Amino acid sequence: MQSTMMDFPLTLPHLLERAGRLFGPQEIVTRLPDRSLHRYTYADFYRRSRALAEALQKAGLQKGDRVATLSWNTYAHLEAYFGIPAVGGVLHTLNLRLHPSDIAYIVNHAEDRFLIVDDVLLKLYEAIKEHVKFEKVIVVPLTGQPVPEGLTDYEAFIAQASGDFQYPELDEREALGMCYTSGTTGKPKGVVYSHRSTVLHSLGSALPDALNLSAQDVLCPVVPMFHVMAWGLPFTGVMTGAKLVLPGPHLDPVSLLELYEGEAVTKTAGVPTIWLGVLQTLQKEPERFKLVKGMEMVVGGSAAPEALIRGFDRFGLKVLHAWGMTETSPLGTTSRLKPHLKRLSPDEQYAYRATQGIPTPLVEVRAVGEKGVVPWDGKSMGELEVRGPWVASSYYKLDSEQGKWSEDGWFRTGDVVTIDPEGYVKITDRTKDLIKSGGEWISSLDLENALMGHPAVKEAAVIAIPHPKWAERPLAAVVLKEGMSATPEELRAFLEPKVAKWWLPDAFVFVDEIPRTSTGKFLKAQLREQYKNWQWE
Ligand code: ADP
Repeated sequence: MQSTMMDFPLTLPHLLERAGRLFGPQEIVTRLPDRSLHRYTYADFYRRSRALAEALQKAGLQKGDRVATLSWNTYAHLEAYFGIPAVGGVLHTLNLRLHPSDIAYIVNHAEDRFLIVDDVLLKLYEAIKEHVKFEKVIVVPLTGQPVPEGLTDYEAFIAQASGDFQYPELDEREALGMCYTSGTTGKPKGVVYSHRSTVLHSLGSALPDALNLSAQDVLCPVVPMFHVMAWGLPFTGVMTGAKLVLPGPHLDPVSLLELYEGEAVTKTAGVPTIWLGVLQTLQKEPERFKLVKGMEMVVGGSAAPEALIRGFDRFGLKVLHAWGMTETSPLGTTSRLKPHLKRLSPDEQYAYRATQGIPTPLVEVRAVGEKGVVPWDGKSMGELEVRGPWVASSYYKLDSEQGKWSEDGWFRTGDVVTIDPEGYVKITDRTKDLIKSGGEWISSLDLENALMGHPAVKEAAVIAIPHPKWAERPLAAVVLKEGMSATPEELRAFLEPKVAKWWLPDAFVFVDEIPRTSTGKFLKAQLREQYKNWQWE
């Protein structure tokens, strides 16, 4: 039997129209490169996003054409997020932290036609321009400096719009945007999001047990809009009508804390490295900032150490641990306690909050080991596989990677996990970072998490080193907090009650910093290379 319901397309213009009609006076605040605050309203954002769409149309943009952005989190980037897809274009956010040769590779692979670039990032454009071909380069004058000759001024470009822009007819399965993974393993791989996947992801993310976003919120995405679409928050935020606070290029702890205080931020999101810095600043000057009580800080991209969650709790700030990937739009799981788990002891509750959490509605998870799907017993490890309407089913122009999908169509994440009987997913490693000792797996993440609970340890990364007897054994690279000390013996003794004896790292090295990828993840491959000739005693 057929339903009697409308086949209403799930497309982005619907969210833009809704925001413009319902939330006109709501504010959008941006910190500019000179640190001053730019303020305008949803009404301005609506008008200007549509003006951008119209100007792109007049400039000859055809459906499916890629428009790249090289921008910080700003009001103009937000306009690009909506204006480009509104006219059927494909928003392609470039990661400005990548090496210029990687950026050029990505631009050419995606065949980007236009570029929108912040004036403060023009140097980066200069570094790639010999290797790429943009038909038009549109410069956002954030500093007020004149735009160099030969390039288009963003303000002049959108000023030519008449204001009577008509949306083209859009199919919900058409491309809306694309992102490339940071390429920590091999060449960057492109994922193309559809209008449908983005709208559904926005609905899923906003749910109370996911990111819990509403028009009552003041949302500050610290995660860059050039990294997995800032976890979809620009779309979700605008859909819900939340006030938006965009930090521009100023991501240091004090700038962020001032912004939280000044704008009364209720929800923010970023990677653990950012939050480690914020926590240290709060600990140094506990009275300096008056933050909204219960402000929620979404943490993802790498594992949130339990010590971080506990640390923020002492300031009345709530860490919400979430997991996701470029290939999953990105939201896959969030770690909120189910009501009956709130009756557990505080330690048990923290242990749950430090897991990556349970899947969002419409996302399905399973863990697959050598002998097939493993039970949800909280002990058996397997590779996490996911599927759902906002999970990629292939990479853009890269058929050789089809092995990343199982025969029955699930996406293989490369993360090794356990899933407990409640459905809480806990990442123990990435497949490429696994430590296999005497035929058994050791979880480097568990060891790092435990080490970061030591009062003298700022950060720790545990890697596998070849071993003549055990095949591999763990080595811990440790960064100590300023002015603190610890010996390998002390660290071993600290870990002993927390992990199995055979997991204890056999070697500790003290380093000034741990090498990282452009998106803040530990670059363990580099550490492994550095210590591969380690002499075991
Ligand atoms: P890339 O794979 O290019 O580094 P992504 O940003 O898509 O880029 O990274 C996804 C990966 O980040 C996941 O597969 C996982 O290993 C890691 N990750 C994301 N969130 C978490 C988390 N909460 N805990 C542990 N690891 C995480």
